[in-house]
Amino acid sequence: MQKTSGKLFVISGPSGVGKGTIIHKLLEKNPNIKLSISATTRAPRPHETDGVDYYFISRDNFTKLIKEDKLAEWAEFSGNYYGTYYDTINNTLQNGYDLILEIEVKGAMQIKNKIPSAVLIFILPPSFDELQKRLTGRNTEKTEEIKQRLAIFEDEYAKSFEFNYKITNDNLDEATEELQKIISREKQN
Ligand code: ADP
Ligand code: 5GP
Repeated sequence: MQKTSGKLFVISGPSGVGKGTIIHKLLEKNPNIKLSISATTRAPRPHETDGVDYYFISRDNFTKLIKEDKLAEWAEFSGNYYGTYYDTINNTLQNGYDLILEIEVKGAMQIKNKIPSAVLIFILPPSFDELQKRLTGRNTEKTEEIKQRLAIFEDEYAKSFEFNYKITNDNLDEATEELQKIISREKQN
């Protein structure tokens, strides 16, 4: 019997909007959905683990991945490189799982061009002030890095119109529920 192939979902939005938090809640209730583990040249945060949160690699190794055409998309974000392995997409979908790519907007646009069946979802903050509060409150970046991440919000927002869906993450449970509904609806198509 042939297995049905899974569906690809791309989730983007400004840093600190709550993408990771929403996706974690969603995954707890959906064992059939996997989250792609990206490669990055950024240093791990204190509670991050190599091979779980990211594959933390050197710039040289990242350049090698690009040259060997191992990445379905990649982009520079705030001074570091981030990318999605082709193998992760192909293997996960072929095994019948749905897959979420939690990636920034330039990468999302690359996926949109390469894989038109992918469903793109943009997460918005209720306000810029609240975004600033969340990113600062997370306490994972220094002030300069926080400024850099917030400075690109307007550009990121401009790209949100290229997405299939937008969700405002005001109340966490409601935003997660909205994402769940979008995924269920798209799975029926
Ligand atoms: P991202 O993955 O988009 O960078 P995170 O998931 O790390 O963002 O969330 C950033 C911070 O905002 C975290 O401290 C998280 O607990 C908090 N947060 C997420 N969603 C909400 C929400 N709806 N209301 C208040 N705080 C939130
Ligand atoms: P962070 O450093 O906060 O983990 O991630 C910074 C940004 O990089 C976030 O917007 C996150 O979604 C994005 N990102 C994570 N992995 C990838 C990836 O594989 N490709 C791209 N293009 N962006 C990614």
